[in-house]
Amino acid sequence: MKCVLILAALLLQGPCLAAPNKQRDPEQIGQRNVGGRINLYSQKTEFELGKDMARDFEREVDIITDPVVSEYVNRIGQNIVRHSDAKIFFTIKVVRSTEVNAVAIPGGFVFVNSALIRTAGTEAELASALAHEIAHVAARHFTRRASLEQVMSCATIPLVFIGGWPGYAIQQAANLALPLAGIKFSRSAEAEADMLGLQYVYQSGYDPAAFIDLFERISVMEKSNPGIFARMLSSHPPVRNRIRSVQKQIERDLRPRDEYLVQTSEFQNVKTRLIAIENRERVPWVSVASPAALDARPVLRRRN
Ligand SMILES: [Zn+2]
Repeated sequence: MKCVLILAALLLQGPCLAAPNKQRDPEQIGQRNVGGRINLYSQKTEFELGKDMARDFEREVDIITDPVVSEYVNRIGQNIVRHSDAKIFFTIKVVRSTEVNAVAIPGGFVFVNSALIRTAGTEAELASALAHEIAHVAARHFTRRASLEQVMSCATIPLVFIGGWPGYAIQQAANLALPLAGIKFSRSAEAEADMLGLQYVYQSGYDPAAFIDLFERISVMEKSNPGIFARMLSSHPPVRNRIRSVQKQIERDLRPRDEYLVQTSEFQNVKTRLIAIENRERVPWVSVASPAALDARPVLRRRN
């Protein structure tokens, strides 16, 4: 009976159902509960779990440790985190990979593939991709889905009665260590990550249309080179649908601002440097702190 009640509660608190007005209002960021009210995993358990998963993941991949690239991507990401609903510390790293993708691990770990940075045309587009991943973590999609799955497989009912809630969460943590390749969120969770991510990008001062620019870029590249985004596209809703809902959200929920940040010379420098690192060429000396880089003004989009 308890299992049925928990299941009903978990289903009822699905994405976007709780206080829809608050969920859609970027002014409410940080003052609302986007992580769902019911989760069998405490924040602490989630972090411990994520830490182990991130450690295992790092063993499997090649992390780019170049200080200029990693500091820049981390800084852009931490700025998004500051304008998000997440109240936890984030670790953001760059992975050397030809696959255009990024991975969000519960507890505050985000890994961005170098190919994604190379694909992004502007800093605002990179910020959009980071914001989508940060939103998955802020909304606790991983442990919410795991909670639902655990309760649905009612084989675990006895644990609820034996150990109570904390016992239940601890018992289940061991079972949650799914391979990262298997992470696939529901369509509603993906839609929620777009919805929240768009708000985070907007609140950080970026042009929210960058979300659409990145989707369009991916869609054009996929057409000319079918299969390059296979994994990313298979784990996310169709790009056309995502573009439509983002467009609708911009018109309906985001009050137009006088200007938005689109591009910085720092992004372009970092991208050039990243390409040189990956091609094992001489890394450009021009660093972000150089007078040339500091002189260049960011590109803004102003309201007509
Ligand atoms: Zn996603």
